[in-house]
Amino acid sequence: MSHVEEVAARIVAIPDHPEPGVTFRDITPVFADPAALAAAVHHLTDVTRDLGVQRVIAAEARGFLLGPALALELGAGFLLARKPGKLPRDTLAVEYALEYGSDQLEVHADLLEPGTRVLVHDDLLATGGTAEALCRLVEDLGGEVVACSFLVELSALGGRARLAPHAVHSLVTYD
Ligand code: 5GP
Repeated sequence: MSHVEEVAARIVAIPDHPEPGVTFRDITPVFADPAALAAAVHHLTDVTRDLGVQRVIAAEARGFLLGPALALELGAGFLLARKPGKLPRDTLAVEYALEYGSDQLEVHADLLEPGTRVLVHDDLLATGGTAEALCRLVEDLGGEVVACSFLVELSALGGRARLAPHAVHSLVTYD
């Protein structure tokens, strides 16, 4: 089985969750299965290995599932983007729109040197709002976003176009 098949076989579609008409993609079985977990990390690092990644950035909570594993495998560091008020030192914040209202993400401002090459990661790309906010955080600190990587992409929601011109790598795509 290929890495993609190994992971795709473990993603469970939950119809009408969290509301009628929405199909939720449950990725928790990918993490429970040793072969699928290894396949996910190896695939996402194979496609980003030549980019000279120095830091991986991801947002709580589900970006933290694979973010540090990708960083370790790429020989990079990991940056935590957290919800407001969680980080104890000076932060840089970015606001982003949700379906209803808005939210913020914060990062410790002294952990990213200008010019650093950063990979943006999240478990799933839907509208792209979360990843776009992470790109802005990196760029506001003078870093360079070299690519965005996701375990799952819901292509009908247009996240890939929203993240352009950044390269987008996703392991499993659903229409
Ligand atoms: P976006 O900001 O791209 O619209 O949404 C991405 C975020 O929504 C991800 O952080 C992800 O955790 C969450 N999300 C949205 N839909 C799903 C889904 O079907 N399955 C999972 N696992 N997460 C989802």
